Amino acid sequence: MGVVGRAIEAGHLDVRTVDLRDFSKGAHRQIDDAPFGGGAGMVMMIEPLAKALGPLSDSIRVLMTPAGRPLDQDMLDRFATIDHLTLVCGRYEGVDERVVEHFIEEEVSVGDFVLPGGEAAALTLIEGIARLIPGVLGNAQSIEGESFRESLLEEPHYTRPADYQGWKVPDILLSGDHGRIEEWRAAQRLERTRQRRPDLLD
Ligand code: SAM
Repeated sequence: MGVVGRAIEAGHLDVRTVDLRDFSKGAHRQIDDAPFGGGAGMVMMIEPLAKALGPLSDSIRVLMTPAGRPLDQDMLDRFATIDHLTLVCGRYEGVDERVVEHFIEEEVSVGDFVLPGGEAAALTLIEGIARLIPGVLGNAQSIEGESFRESLLEEPHYTRPADYQGWKVPDILLSGDHGRIEEWRAAQRLERTRQRRPDLLD
C-alpha cells in the first residue's frame, strides 16, 4: 500500500472528492461556458464553484493553476500543518477569475508546464503532504536529510551487491568509518547541488 493509502487507513488523513456537477443547474449539469470577449476554449463558471466553495470558508481553499506559486518543500511543510485544505482542480481554460478573487486563499503550480486538468497536480500535493504527517512514514523512510532540506539535493545511495559486474560502490561507504562517511555525504550533497541545481544555493 502506498503512503496516501497508509495515511488514510491509520486515520492520519481524510481525502474526499467533490463532483462540481452536483452544484450545477439544469439537466446537462453544465459547469463551463464560453469566455466573455471571445477566444478558444471554455471557462469554468462561477456559480457551481461558489456553491461548492462558499460553505468551506473554514478551510484553506487552494486553486491548482499554472499561474500559482511554484510548489516546493517549504510549501508542503506548511500545508502539512493545516487541518483542512480544499484543492480546486481546473479543467478547460481554467476558472472564472471571480472565483479566485472571492473563494481562493492560495494558488499553487506544480511546474512551468500545462496539464489538461488540476487532478494530477492536486495528487502531487496530497502525496507530498501525506508523507510529512507524523506517524505515516516508518523509521526506514526518514524525511531528515532528504533533497531540498537545507536547500540541498540528497547524496547518492547504494545497496548490495558492493560490486555489480565491475561497477563498484565508493570505497568510503564500505569503510565503517561513520565520521568520514558523513563528511563524504555532505560533500556529495553540495557537489550535486552545485552541478544540477545551482539555483538552490543562491
Ligand atoms: N489556460 C490555462 C493557462 O494557460 O494557464 C491552462 C488551463 S489547464 C488546460 C486546465 C487546468 O489544469 C487548470 O485550470 C489547472 O487547474 C490545471 N493545471 C494545468 N497545469 C497546471 C500546473 N502546472 N500546476 C497546477 N495546475 C495545473
